[in-house]
Formats: sequence, C-alpha cells, structure tokens
Amino acid sequence: MSEKRYLPDRWYNIMADLPQAPPPALHPLTKEPLGPQDLAALFPMACIEQEVSTERYIPIPEEVREIYALWRPTPLRRARRLEKALGTPAHIYYKYEGASPVGSHKPNTAVPQAYYNRQEGITRLTTETGAGQWGSALSMAGAFLGIDVQVFMVKVSYYQKPYRRVLMESFGARCIPSPSEETEAGRAILAQDPDTPGTLGIAISEAVELALKDPKTKYSLGSVLNHVMIHQSVIGEEALQQMDEAGEYPDVVIACTGGGSNFGGIVFPFLGENLRHGKTTRFVAVEPAASPSLTKGVYAYDYGDTAHLTPLVKMHTLGHTFVPAGIHAGGLRYHGMAPLVSLAHELGLIEARAYPQLPVFEAALLFTRTEGIIPAPETAHAVKAAIDEALEAKEKGEERIILFNFSGHGFLDLGAYDDYLHGKLRNYEHPSEAIHEALRSLPQVD
Ligand SMILES: *Cc1c(COP(=O)(O)O)cnc(C)c1O
Repeated sequence: MSEKRYLPDRWYNIMADLPQAPPPALHPLTKEPLGPQDLAALFPMACIEQEVSTERYIPIPEEVREIYALWRPTPLRRARRLEKALGTPAHIYYKYEGASPVGSHKPNTAVPQAYYNRQEGITRLTTETGAGQWGSALSMAGAFLGIDVQVFMVKVSYYQKPYRRVLMESFGARCIPSPSEETEAGRAILAQDPDTPGTLGIAISEAVELALKDPKTKYSLGSVLNHVMIHQSVIGEEALQQMDEAGEYPDVVIACTGGGSNFGGIVFPFLGENLRHGKTTRFVAVEPAASPSLTKGVYAYDYGDTAHLTPLVKMHTLGHTFVPAGIHAGGLRYHGMAPLVSLAHELGLIEARAYPQLPVFEAALLFTRTEGIIPAPETAHAVKAAIDEALEAKEKGEERIILFNFSGHGFLDLGAYDDYLHGKLRNYEHPSEAIHEALRSLPQVD
C-alpha cells in the first residue's frame, strides 16, 4: 500500500463535538474551579488556552510541523502476515508511532509543549517519567528547541532500565531518581520510607514543586491533559487520510491506555466522525489488569499526584495513593485517566477492557514473529485486543476492519521480554480491597 505523504497542518479537538463539556478542573486547596492564572505557574498560556478551547481545529505552528516532518506522517500498515497466521477474514491495520526518533508517540506533544514554552521565555522544563519514554521525548524536544530539561524518573525504573536514562542524557537532559533529596516532596517521602520504589505520583510532585518555585521553569505533562490529547490528534488525523487512501474505514479502533494520550490521539478524530457524520465505529481502550483505572476505578475528582500539588480533575481513578505491583512489567502504571477519555467512557462512547500480562506478551510475540516488530509492552495490550477482535470476526465470519495504534516499539524494553521468555512473569490483578482502600483517600468535593 502506498503511504500518502500528508502531514496535517491542524490538530483536532474533541471538545468541539462531545455532547457535554467535561467538569472544570478545581484548585487543590480551595476546590474552586481553576482560572487560567492558577495554571500559569505550571504551563505556558498557549497550552492553558488549548486546555479549555472548544475550537474544532487548532493550527499546528510551522516550526512544530518542520520537526514533525522528521518522522511524520508515520506509516499506516496492514498486518497481512498476522491476519494469515490467525486465519481471519478481518483486515488489521496499525499506525506505526514507533517510527519517531525515540520510538513512541510521545514527541507529538513534547515538541509543541517545548515550542510554546520557549515562545513564552521559559528556559527550563521539569517532568516525571516512568519507564523513560516521556522523559526521552521531552529531552529530545528540549534539545531541538533550546530548553533545559530536568526529569524525575521513578526510582525503580531508573535502576532497572538504564538505557532510556542514557538516551535522555545523550539529548543533554538531567535525569534524577525519584523520590530525591532535591525537593520537599521527595524528602518527605524518603523520611517515611527510604526504600520506596517511587511512583509516577511522587515524581510529578517533585517536578511540579520545582516549577512552582522558579518563574523561568515550567512543568510539562506527557499525557492526561486536554492539550496533550489535542497534540496527539495528529495520529488520528493522518490515519483518517491513510485509511481513505487504502479504500477502507475502520469498524473498530483500538489503543492501549496509560494516561490516555495515544488512545485519544488515534480515537478522537474517528469519534468526531461518529458524532458529526453518524459513523458507527467502535472504540476499545485496553489497560492492564494490574492498573485498571477505566474498568475498575471510579469516576471522581482526584489529584494527579501524591503530594496534592496538582489541580483536581474529574477522571477514572484508582486513587492518587495507588502503588502499582512490582511484578507488573507492562507499563501503563498511572492511577488516573485523561478527563476526556474518562468522560467519553462515562457517556458510553467508548469501550474499555483489561488484560493480565501473560496473554499480552504472548500476543506481542505472535506479532513479532509474523510482522517482525517487537512492540513496547504498553503497545502489546493493543496488539492483544486487535488479535481478539480478529479472532471474533473469524468466528462470526465477518470481514471486520480493525485499526490499532502501535504506540511504540520495544527495543528498550527487552528486559520485560527476557522475563516473559524465561517464565519470570505471572498474571497479577490489582486487588479490589486495595482499590477500596485507596479510594478512601479521594478528596471530598461537593
Ligand atoms: C507512554 C506510553 C503509553 C501510555 O501512555 P498514554 O498516554 O496512555 O498513551 C503507551 N505506549 C507507549 C509506547 C508509551 O510510551
């Protein structure tokens, strides 16, 4: 199939087409709706405006497009060898975001965020990272746009997964294991529990604290927020064109969900087609059974971090005190879900399912052995769901058109595959009691 050389010049904003607006973000102390000024210490004005925008299309700045052009448009491919191995009449397409320089979809938002910060005179960005994909994407964007980047990396990953740290440092960023002695939030946690493996929630607290203290420093978040969903829509905008070029339209669009950004990125432009033009595509969000915010969390106001520094947003959450199990290898460990993805789920516009990790790795290796690419463990959840859809289509004798987002490749996650191949992983389901316990610490909002 030919790949149309089309790089979008605008992002799509699902807020224009949803039947209702998401509830407002609240101030963490007063619990009153946030004004733009409340967010100004953390984010550049351009992103804050996008956060509340209801414009359907937002132009992509030319300098951002020029950087996108290094790897975009990403390929849309049909997985014919996988189809054949499954013996399915379904057509399986995937959008290959592994084609970016750091191997995932994350630079789609890292680049515009660094760009808008530089436009507003910011010289340093802080952020958190788990396995390191987001940290490497922001480090690359900082190198391109001349901004210093400081990354708090969840401690357990910092020591277990050194290669993405090296990648961040190669881009010139500074990478610190979190919790650290460099912030009040980090010191408080270390005083309580010096051996803590760290969590994304703690690392966010540290990064936010530094941004609040220095007017030339802002904070950058790689998922969850509305402006991130807008930037990631470049995936779905391209896929709409490329599916059209292939002469097909998807019956189902699938993506894995951590904070929800690659899901929103590929799904929202197609969901817009459903809402505006009566298309009937189904959308499937796939999460790990070890971190099941959409399938087992509650839809409630919660903090984005452990130290209660971030705004309160209404989302599907496992509680901001959630600590993912050490045994879980598949990424996607955040306690909350993007407010826009959460709302779409509340409104019945999308489906969600959770898989335990062993069948996810099994599906990933079937993909590797037929299509040749090793998926990131996160992406493997989407691969598993695409395979299940294709097998269901086979059972029903349907020619189903399946599109999934291949959010990233797994070349720097081979340790997880090593564990799987040598029988060191087992299935793990986050226990309901732990969820009930964590939900007791949700903020009271009336
Ligand atoms: C970060 C990441 C994810 C999960 O984040 P979302 O915001 O849910 O997209 C999924 N896949 C890859 C490859 C990632 O790097």
